[in-house]
Amino acid sequence: MDSGNKVTVLGAGLMGHGIAQVASQVGKFEVSILDVERSYLDRGMKMIGDSIGKFVEKGKLSKDEGEAALGRIHPTLDLAEAVKGSSLVMEAATEDPKLKLDLYRRLAQLAGEDTILASNTSSISITLLGSATKKPENVCGMHFFNPPQLMPLVEIIRGNKTSDRTVSQVKDASVRLGKETVLCKKDSPGFIVNRILVPALNEAIFLVQEGVAAPEDIDKAVKLGLNWPMGPLQLLDYVGLDTTLNIMQVFMNEFEDSKYRPSPLMKEMVRAGLVGRKSGRGFYEWGSPSATKSK
Ligand code: NAD
Repeated sequence: MDSGNKVTVLGAGLMGHGIAQVASQVGKFEVSILDVERSYLDRGMKMIGDSIGKFVEKGKLSKDEGEAALGRIHPTLDLAEAVKGSSLVMEAATEDPKLKLDLYRRLAQLAGEDTILASNTSSISITLLGSATKKPENVCGMHFFNPPQLMPLVEIIRGNKTSDRTVSQVKDASVRLGKETVLCKKDSPGFIVNRILVPALNEAIFLVQEGVAAPEDIDKAVKLGLNWPMGPLQLLDYVGLDTTLNIMQVFMNEFEDSKYRPSPLMKEMVRAGLVGRKSGRGFYEWGSPSATKSK
């Protein structure tokens, strides 16, 4: 593997497999992808293969380009091997502060002096992740959207000690991946997009709770009145009410402002296991639980 052109993706789940695919298919990087169990890596590689297959089917990629893109992605279970010679580590591991802090402590021992550690976290402080390393100036937020293969935006988040060099290199890498970037100048919960979106989703649940309108009418209103491609309650079912509740709780704790109070109906639905598509039911019926996990 040509290490000068190498990047690393940690986590082969919903986001990690997509980021690895974009890094290879669009960025033409050699990509090491790591997960904690062989079966997760195999599942991630299968999702990448299936997705590349769809690009080929639609004529957006030739068969040879598709094979080459798959050939540049190297799965491994060994963290030292994954980060060796890598200029950029894009971390997309499970959204669990303890797990991520432990991972960053280990990365601090293994990554090169100048290697950038970029987290795809949706809610954990970049400054906190940086504090687990020896070089917090190399730690940055690089927040992709789901699915990374199709969504054009990366939010770049500057932690308290992130250097200008790190921000500029993450921007360059994002552009090489074909993405548009925005800079979040402060490490603030929800960054830009989720800070706007998640309270709006919460407000839609308040409308249901207060009996103001039926879920179908709330979704219809927002689709036709605001031109959203999907109504907020349908979107909640896709994102997961559990994930949304976690984010509202982070906002509530961090900002200490009652405007971020999670809707009691959302709490009740999460307790009842009505979290959306992945459990088979949320605001809508989805049939049998989806196999796709989401965080
Ligand atoms: P996921 O559960 O689908 O995947 C996470 C993967 O990380 C799993 O395969 C897990 O085995 C693996 N993992 C756990 N510990 C690890 C470790 N120590 N090293 C490497 N891999 C490890 O979750 P996801 O939805 O892909 O989320 C990953 C990250 O992306 C989270 O930080 C999440 O907040 C963020 N994110 C998610 C979305 C979304 O829509 N799901 C969008 C933007 C950002």
